[in-house]
Amino acid sequence: MEKLREIFKENGIQITKQRLAVYKVLKELNTHVTAEMVLGVLAQRGISMTVATVYNILNLFAEKGMIIKVGSAGEPVIFDINTYQHVHICDENTRHVRDCPDRGLVELVESYLNSHPVEGLELHRIDISLIGRDRTPNPAD
Ligand SMILES: [Zn+2]
Repeated sequence: MEKLREIFKENGIQITKQRLAVYKVLKELNTHVTAEMVLGVLAQRGISMTVATVYNILNLFAEKGMIIKVGSAGEPVIFDINTYQHVHICDENTRHVRDCPDRGLVELVESYLNSHPVEGLELHRIDISLIGRDRTPNPAD
């Protein structure tokens, strides 16, 4: 609990019961989630919130860099607690998102951008999503 309070403080976010509850769920699930998924877990725990509240909290966390929005995955928005630079593999039919285990693409793009900076852009993050039909078995099925 202290550690969570510390994380909020570091990111300049005021601690509320609801924000703590949402962040705890994100930490525990440790995967790609939608606001609805978080809401479902909260409901199982008897914590009642609206989907709009959960969504607003997730957006605030994303704004502060505590989580990331998986950019190209479409709707509903998918959030990721793992903020290290990694590539996402998105199935366009099932909407399942997983991390690409190969770091090579990220390293390639980072190295390219180091030697070819984009004029006028202060780069904060590289967001790469590979969209297609994912032929690996979905662990959720
Ligand atoms: Zn991810």
